[in-house]
Amino acid sequence: MTSPDGAVFTDGLRPVDVLTVVAVTDVTPSVRRVTLSGEPAAVAAAGPTVNLLVPRADDPDPLWPRIQRDGRIVWPQGSHGVALRSYTARRQDPAAGEVDIDFVLHGDGPAAAWAAAARPGAVLAVAGAASLAERPAGWLLLAGDETSLPAISRLLATAPPTAVGVAFLEVAGPEEEQPLPGPPGIEVRWLHRGGTPPGESTLLADAVAALERPPGDDVFAWVGAESATVRAVRADLRGRWGLGRAQHHAIGYWRLGKAMGS
Ligand SMILES: Cc1cc2nc3c(=O)[nH]c(=O)nc-3n(C[C@H](O)[C@H](O)[C@H](O)COP(=O)(O)OP(=O)(O)OC[C@H]3O[C@@H](n4cnc5c(N)ncnc54)[C@H](O)[C@@H]3O)c2cc1C
Repeated sequence: MTSPDGAVFTDGLRPVDVLTVVAVTDVTPSVRRVTLSGEPAAVAAAGPTVNLLVPRADDPDPLWPRIQRDGRIVWPQGSHGVALRSYTARRQDPAAGEVDIDFVLHGDGPAAAWAAAARPGAVLAVAGAASLAERPAGWLLLAGDETSLPAISRLLATAPPTAVGVAFLEVAGPEEEQPLPGPPGIEVRWLHRGGTPPGESTLLADAVAALERPPGDDVFAWVGAESATVRAVRADLRGRWGLGRAQHHAIGYWRLGKAMGS
């Protein structure tokens, strides 16, 4: 039996898509781009937001889970040596069979450790994907840190050329800035936290708090950063800006002091 995309189901379960590292590039001091290759259909299905199955560095022989028809992940019994983490495909090129994932090398956790050690030939797997939950609007606020820079780069690249607004990017310093092509009416403002550790600065929340609400209702705000920061920004957008649920998407991309996923 096969799934709609042609994958084989065994006992109602299909295998995950396994991708192989073909290149590793340090984009900035703290961001490592891993280029993965796979079947065109697997690459097309690996984003924009993607559930990565990352082999734990201390387990060279991971047991991959399988996927139910409804998309749920079914884990093998016992220890499997795989961690589930959310990432963003910075670039997907199904024709070339390539997808780029930009990993923040934050120094802790299975995904950061895997990326730090990634070499051509290494593998990871994909267990489902989702949209970036953006909505079309004439005025856009984009706000995030290094972890959501891949998402914000895609949002800027696909925004209508007539869109206006502002993108706030919090990074450690100028060495972490990346070119972000987008509509000329969206101003990109880099916020440098300097020696303040990630997740402990109030730069993003302060920048939004200092921003006057644009007039009218043709407004959409997209926010992805450390959870407490996102909570502060979300409260401001719902309260002072009065944005309804359909006018904003603000989710924690990581939690200070806590591991994500399983
Ligand atoms: C939808 C979505 C898309 C995402 N896309 C990307 C992406 O494209 N690139 C990317 O790098 N991240 C992305 N993230 C964030 C990423 O999933 C988290 O940073 C995740 O915690 C990394 O897993 P880990 O195994 O390295 O660390 P975990 O095991 O989850 O955490 C271990 C420790 O590291 C800390 N930690 C986690 N992330 C950071 C960080 N960025 N800086 C400092 N400390 C940290 C935690 O607080 C914890 O103490 C995304 C998250 C979501 C929800």
